Amino acid sequence: MSTPTTNAGPQFYEQTWDLSYKHALGETTSRFLGALTEGKILGRRCPECERVLVPARSFCDRDHCATTDWVEVGTTGVIEMFTVVYEPFKNLPAPPYALAYATLEGADTALVGYVRGLDLSDQRTAVAALAVGTPVVVRFSDDPTGTAADYWFEPAAGSN
Ligand SMILES: [Zn+2]
Repeated sequence: MSTPTTNAGPQFYEQTWDLSYKHALGETTSRFLGALTEGKILGRRCPECERVLVPARSFCDRDHCATTDWVEVGTTGVIEMFTVVYEPFKNLPAPPYALAYATLEGADTALVGYVRGLDLSDQRTAVAALAVGTPVVVRFSDDPTGTAADYWFEPAAGSN
């Protein structure tokens, strides 16, 4: 029989909160999402490092200054990183699905999006098709809602 201890270390109480809330997107994110409904990807240029930040951001994460100019970037790019999800998560699509960060033509930072147009049933084949450096194109919804669901990536023709 063990001896009870008086100093058992940190104690935790686990809870699950299911909250619904609405928050303001701000001018920059609102304009970025609005441009998606027009089939455009917008970034903002930093006046210090001159990088084009995509998705559009109000402040440069490197220089901590306000961005200035709006820049429309291209709809082709390359995959920088990716993941393929085979397990279900609440409020996300039914698996399998793929997410990737891709740097688009004219942008200096990568944009995250779902990747469609791939057979993800075989993990090894899916990972090969999403390799870093793989060219992708941005596709836009025919029925945009002004959300990040309005665009996704697909492998560029001839990349597989
Ligand atoms: Zn900067």
